[in-house]
Amino acid sequence: LGGSISRALQQMSNATIIDEKVLNECLNEITRALLQADVQFKLVRDMSTNIKKIVNLEDLAAGHNKRRIIQQAVYNELCKILDPGKPAFTLKKGKPSVVMFVGLQGSGKTTTCTKYAYHHQKRGWKPALVCADTFRAGAFDQLKQNATKAKIPFYGSYTESDPVKIAVDGVETFKKENCDLIIVDTSGRHKQEAALFEEMRQVSVAAKPDLVIFVMDSSIGQAAFDQAQAFRQSVAVGAVIITKMDGHAKGGGALSAVAATKSPIIFIGTGEHMDEFEVFDVKPFVSRLLGMGDLSGLVNKIQDVVPMDQQPELLQKLSEGHFTLRIMYEQFQNMLKMGPLGQVFSMLPGFSAEMMPQGREKESQAKFKRYMTMMDSMTDEELDSTNPKILTESRIMRIARGSGRLVHEVMEMLEEYKRLAKIFSKMKGLKIPKKGDMSSL
Ligand code: GDP
Ligand code: MG
Repeated sequence: LGGSISRALQQMSNATIIDEKVLNECLNEITRALLQADVQFKLVRDMSTNIKKIVNLEDLAAGHNKRRIIQQAVYNELCKILDPGKPAFTLKKGKPSVVMFVGLQGSGKTTTCTKYAYHHQKRGWKPALVCADTFRAGAFDQLKQNATKAKIPFYGSYTESDPVKIAVDGVETFKKENCDLIIVDTSGRHKQEAALFEEMRQVSVAAKPDLVIFVMDSSIGQAAFDQAQAFRQSVAVGAVIITKMDGHAKGGGALSAVAATKSPIIFIGTGEHMDEFEVFDVKPFVSRLLGMGDLSGLVNKIQDVVPMDQQPELLQKLSEGHFTLRIMYEQFQNMLKMGPLGQVFSMLPGFSAEMMPQGREKESQAKFKRYMTMMDSMTDEELDSTNPKILTESRIMRIARGSGRLVHEVMEMLEEYKRLAKIFSKMKGLKIPKKGDMSSL
């Protein structure tokens, strides 16, 4: 999506005169890209109309950068859809709250319940999990397993078949135990069936949740809007969590879900593990969707800053999914040579701010040098491996000693590597474009 929209804007910027025809072509291109990204048809149409109104060509004083204005309008419109204008109901730490999770079977409710509980537990809450899914065999065992792993108290039953009774009893139990975040996991069905919605309604009436969270699998495509709306019509959805954003989801379904529920996205799931869970932020998400800081931009950037003779090899390795410590080392080297830092990695959303805070380039430079010293104490095998597990505890201690750094510093460096490797793994299978050509992405 990002690629197509940037390309549309790019083509327009190449046009010498921006008239009605050029604007229409650009909007058509953007419309197509949004539809391909699974944004609901009606949303796309309304957005296109709005943008046209905003970019009223006649009214624009000469000298304004029209391409900028259009880009800004697209950005604003997408942000507007994703930000329904009211924040999710905020729960108070220390005061008992009940949160109910709803969504179709397989959307990721049970996994997400635990992630949500774990996230809050780390921030000083006292969460508890209630399994009100009596439909799926093994549902209670799954929740029990997750909860035990995260050391979160849980409630459920192997014999009781009434989800309403379990929900009420569970909430009661944990209120007595002074838990301040009581999470009720519910059942789903394969389809949106009347029986499911009736059950949701009953559980909701009995458990009186302070917040209902709708969980949606990001890969469901155009069905997102209808599904989200169906849930909203039977329970008062107050927030949305989108799961499986680590897959090949196109992202547009998320916009549609927010439009349907009129509720904000609060988290996204980015993997099966407990900590693969991120607070959702509208602006970086839209930037990424529009290619203002996405991987296609990254490839172009690599081509700008990496010496010509090293480019094919680096891009080849990245497209094969090999991101090794040696590649990281070489990239640090390139960046240090380049002078102003933050070029390549600043293209990575959600990452750059942490790794290279603006205005603190000196510190970042020092950090890269520190990391490189540690990597100097590694073996070739370690540097060329894509499996960080070969770095055993004793090797980490040796590397720390060898480079005169602390063990936790080496571990921190490896964490940075893993984070980067994860981001770069998205480049696997990437077609490598010619310089300046984003269209093949
Ligand atoms: P439920 O039926 O709605 O309770 O869904 P589950 O929690 O049982 O999840 C269904 C499947 O999706 C499981 O295999 C989960 O591991 C997987 N899953 C859940 N969230 C994510 C995610 O964010 N990323 C990925 N890759 N898998 C997920
Ligand atoms: Mg479940």
